[in-house]
Parts: sequence; structure tokens; C-alpha cells
Amino acid sequence: VTARAESVDAVLRERELDALLVADPMNLRWLTGFTGSNGAAVVGPGIRRFLTAVRYPVQSREQVPEEWGEAEIATDLLARAAEGGLPGRLGFADDHLTVKHHARLAQLVGDDVELVAAGGIVEELRLVKTPEEIELIRATAKIADEAFTEVVLEGGIVGRTERDVALDLEVAMRRRGAEGVSFPPIVAAGEHGALPHASPRDVPIPADTLVVIDFGAQKDGYASDCTRTVATGDVDARDRAVYALVLHAQLEALAAVGPGPLGREVDAIARQIIDEAGHAEHFGHGLGHGVGLDVHEEPRLSKQGDTALQAGHVVTVEPGVYLPGQVGVRIEDLVAVTEDGHEVLSSLPKELTTVG
Ligand code: ZN
Ligand code: ZN
Repeated sequence: VTARAESVDAVLRERELDALLVADPMNLRWLTGFTGSNGAAVVGPGIRRFLTAVRYPVQSREQVPEEWGEAEIATDLLARAAEGGLPGRLGFADDHLTVKHHARLAQLVGDDVELVAAGGIVEELRLVKTPEEIELIRATAKIADEAFTEVVLEGGIVGRTERDVALDLEVAMRRRGAEGVSFPPIVAAGEHGALPHASPRDVPIPADTLVVIDFGAQKDGYASDCTRTVATGDVDARDRAVYALVLHAQLEALAAVGPGPLGREVDAIARQIIDEAGHAEHFGHGLGHGVGLDVHEEPRLSKQGDTALQAGHVVTVEPGVYLPGQVGVRIEDLVAVTEDGHEVLSSLPKELTTVG
């Protein structure tokens, strides 16, 4: 965590900022280790201040390293930050701080401090994960995979409602140590699977159809994300063909994940395969996204993805084909970019698997 504050210092020096005000909970957690929702930090070369609301002093003492000094306790963190003295050029997260808070901060600091829009500095640094962070994400993915194996592959889902299976997945992940889910699981059978963001219904899952199951755990703050599409018996030639197409696109795009290519270049590999099969309009989302403390973060693997992949990025590779009113297939792996390629963090089988 010490190295993280120093990496922020380095960016601030480059941008000729004296300090950065950090208040977004995920950015604050990354920077200081603090897991509470109400805190702030002022960080910069030679500056380490940590502020938190009254109810957190014990938690912050345990979590926040000594270099941050004694936590400054206040109910009004902005007022406290200003009172404690702020340097001449202070960066603030223009992508997080509301206009209202910004106006208030400007009033509090007066003319002596220049507020400079500096959103994205911490997010940018968060993109490249340390080996320790990747280990945490790997452990989170393992919990999710084990829950899926227990609930879906071993337990069987035919005749159970989508909602019941989703709840079971959540409980199974928590039982294995997850703090929670990284997002509410998606369980969508048959034509319902054609909605990429389907909510589980109180409808029994029939035999002989495809079921899209998208799920992830949250542990030690880090998220996982995985999708498998399973068959509940015999599925017809159309369903098998769609599955084979998505799997082919997934494997080809996955093979390209490594340091170097832009997000949009990896996206294009899967998109071209799906386009050429005549399903261009049936793959309406990006190929993937970064995963870390946040389940959806940079870099994006999409048509707009202009970040070059580099070692330490953790991304998903999740092409899908959705035939409205008929069926949907999505296959998603969580992947860490390594110096010489990638490591797939999802361990579940990808060949079409039939469950009871
Ligand atoms: Zn997912
Ligand atoms: Zn995803």
C-alpha cells in the first residue's frame, strides 16, 4: 500500500499538482486499505492525511498504515480537510465529486488553493494489479467456480426457478468465504437468455434448453466475473451451432490476450468471427472489461477500447450471441495479462455441458 501512495506522488509530480483529494471508497481502499464507506485522504509528495467519520476510528487504526499518521476524525470531511491546511494546487476527482461538493470545497479553501480537475489518476494506477492483488482475484474466482460446480453442475437446475438457482449460487459463494456477490447473479433459460442483463424470474427452468448463468463473488474487496451457458438436456442444432460459434469466438479472442494489443483489437477478433457467421447484430455488447476492486473497470475490450493491454491487467473475455425471442449464449472467462501472455483465472469447463 505504501508503494501505491508513492505511485500517486509520481503522477502528481508529472502533472504539477501538490496533492490529490481522494474520497471515492474504492480508490480510498486501494490507496490506504480502509474499507469503510466514509473517509477521505489527502495524498501528495510529503503529504499523507487520512480523514474519517467518528464511527470508524478503531477500524481505520487497524487498516490504515502508520505513514498516514493519526486519523483525523470529523463528521464533515471536506471542512476538516480544509481546516487542516491544503497545498496550493490540489487535484480533485471531477468524475466523483459532485458539483455541489466542489462548490463547497472551493468555498472552504478560499483563494489560496487552486482546485484542479484530476479525475482518473487513481483509477489509472488501479488498472495494473500487483501479484498480491491478482492472487486475491484468483481466490475470489475460485470461490465462484466452486459454488457453480456445487449448485449447477452437481446440484442440477431443471425444475428449479431461475431465482432459486441465483440465490443458491449467492449462498454457496458466501459459505465459501465471499463477503458478497460482485453483482446479482444472472440465471436465464431459453429465450430469456437472449437478454444480456436478464433478471432471474420465478419461472422453473425447463429441460432441453440453454441456460445463461453469469455470476461473481466479492472477497477481500476484489471481484470476480464468469459466465457459463449450460444445456439442460438435448438441445437442437440451432442452439448447438450458436454455442459452437460463441465458443470459437471466445477461444480466438482469448488467445490474443497478452501485452500489446489494444482493447478494441481483441474485441474485433471475436466480433469478426460472429459477424462472418451472420450474427453481427446479435452481439450487442463489448467483448470484455477490466475487473478489480470494481467488477466493471478499465480497460474496456470494446470498439472504444483504446488502452493497450499490459501485464497486470485483469479483464474478462465474454462474447455472446443473442437471438431475440429464441436463445442466448455467453461464455466469459476472467483473465490476467502476464508478461508473456495470459493466465485464465476461470477454471470451469467451456465445452457445452449438460446438467440435470
Ligand atoms: Zn459476467
Ligand atoms: Zn463481465
